[in-house]
Amino acid sequence: MRIANVAGRLTVVTPSGGIDVERASGGRFAADPAAVYARWAEFTAWAAVLDGDATPFDETDLGAPSPRPAQVFAVGLNYGAHALEAGYDIPEVPITFTKFPTCITGPHGELPIPGDSVDWEVELVAVVGTRADHVTTDDAWSHIAGLTVGQDYSERRVQTLGQSPQFSLGKSFPGFGPTGPWLVTLDEFDDVDDLALDCTVNGEVMQSGRTRDMLMSVPALVSRLSAVCPLLPGDLIFTGTPDGVGSGRTPPVFLRPGDEVVSTVEGIGAIRQRCVVGVHAAV
Ligand code: ZN
Repeated sequence: MRIANVAGRLTVVTPSGGIDVERASGGRFAADPAAVYARWAEFTAWAAVLDGDATPFDETDLGAPSPRPAQVFAVGLNYGAHALEAGYDIPEVPITFTKFPTCITGPHGELPIPGDSVDWEVELVAVVGTRADHVTTDDAWSHIAGLTVGQDYSERRVQTLGQSPQFSLGKSFPGFGPTGPWLVTLDEFDDVDDLALDCTVNGEVMQSGRTRDMLMSVPALVSRLSAVCPLLPGDLIFTGTPDGVGSGRTPPVFLRPGDEVVSTVEGIGAIRQRCVVGVHAAV
């Protein structure tokens, strides 16, 4: 099942278009896509037998599948080859930071460039469906509503400021957390633990990896994170990026106004941003 946010309305995506959930359910489920995760099991049971009228929609109307997550977890250095290109040893424990929720946007649109070292990081993003509190790896997938594509855009100068760098601000400028184009439920994947993901800039392949190469799998991340913070319905987990980021190149390559970034995950789809002039960060 594919669940989208079409112009702010919860929508089930079918091959012939979208089915508006509030209308098809007679108001049982709200139009607000953020509200569905608290009723995820009830919703998916209803949607599994849904037979409504589908109407085509414009992809430019797509918003974030989970537009107002209470928490956004992001994991750095979760692919060995990326850790090495970033100048680190392969970590025993991937680092954890947040992307503050105001940076979460839909899949297609403009990316304002706030500095001279904005970099790309295509990532698989897991969306939490049911509260996860001290869950085991065996139980972890059952707490995930589905998967979507994300970009962990990063302003490298701001990311690495300070004596003990705190990554979160440098990864939270407006538009730095696009997600979409929709959420895909886990039953849709042949092997949910091994998905190809790639990122192109102006049509050139910059990143090409597979999620099986993550140092900590999605279940391992859910277990580890939920040992500290209860994960709440609608929360996002950015699971890390494979190698091929701009800062790892010689010489480094960073995004400029006019560039187009396309990020794809197998079995989900692609998200696309056009870089535009932004307000430079005064930090
Ligand atoms: Zn990242």
